[in-house]
Amino acid sequence: MNQDGVIVLFSGGQDSTTCLAWALTRFARVETLGFDYGQRHAIELRARLRVLAGFRTSYPEWTAKLGEDHLLTLDVLKQIGGSALTDAVKIEMGTDGLPTSFVPGRNVLFLTAAAALGYRRGISDLVGGMCETDYSGYPDCREKTIAATAEALSLALGQRIEVHTPLMHLDKAATWRLAEELGGKTLVDLIVEETVTCYEGDRTHRHDWGYGCGVCPACQLRARGYETYRRS
Ligand code: ZN
Repeated sequence: MNQDGVIVLFSGGQDSTTCLAWALTRFARVETLGFDYGQRHAIELRARLRVLAGFRTSYPEWTAKLGEDHLLTLDVLKQIGGSALTDAVKIEMGTDGLPTSFVPGRNVLFLTAAAALGYRRGISDLVGGMCETDYSGYPDCREKTIAATAEALSLALGQRIEVHTPLMHLDKAATWRLAEELGGKTLVDLIVEETVTCYEGDRTHRHDWGYGCGVCPACQLRARGYETYRRS
C-alpha cells in the first residue's frame, strides 16, 4: 500500500469511478477532483456525489481512506466553445477528423489544475481514466500525451508528478471486468445505476448497462463493452 496521497480525476462516469476504486486499493489517502467546465449536462456533477455516497455506504474500508472532494471551475473551455460537450453542436465527425465531442486541450488543462491542487495539498500522484484503446481518437488520451504532460508538469512545479492511467490499455469490457475485480458485483451495480457516460446526459432510458440515450457514441461503446463483459 502506497502511503502517499493521490488525487483522482473524478467525473462521475464509468471510467473515473473504476479509477477511484483502483486508487483506493493502492493508496492510503485518496482525494477526488471534478471539473465544472460548462459541460452541457450538469447531470455529471450530480452523479459524482451519488457515486461517492455509494462508496461510503458499501465500502467502509475505502471510506476510511476517502478524503476531500474538490470541484474546480474551468469555464474557459465553455468560453472557447465549439464542442458538442459544451455547445449545441451535433455529435458527428468534424472536418479535423475527430468527433465534434472533442474538447481541445481538456485533459492537459485538467491535469495542470490537478497537479497545482496537489502541490498545495502535498500530493504528487494523480490518477486519470484516459484510455487509448477504445477511445474516439482524441489525441489528448494517448499515453504519449499523458507522459509528456507529466514531464512538463514535473518541470513546471519543480517536483515529480506521476500520472497513473490504469485504463490506458483496456477496452470497455476489460474496464467492467476490472471494476468487478476491485469491488465485486456491488461496484458493477453501482456503476450501472449511478454513473453517467452518455453524451446527451440522458437519465430516463434504463438499459441493462445503465442509463443513457443508447444512440450516442459513448452509450454505444458502454453497451458493447458491457455485452462482451457479460458474455465472458
Ligand atoms: Zn447516449
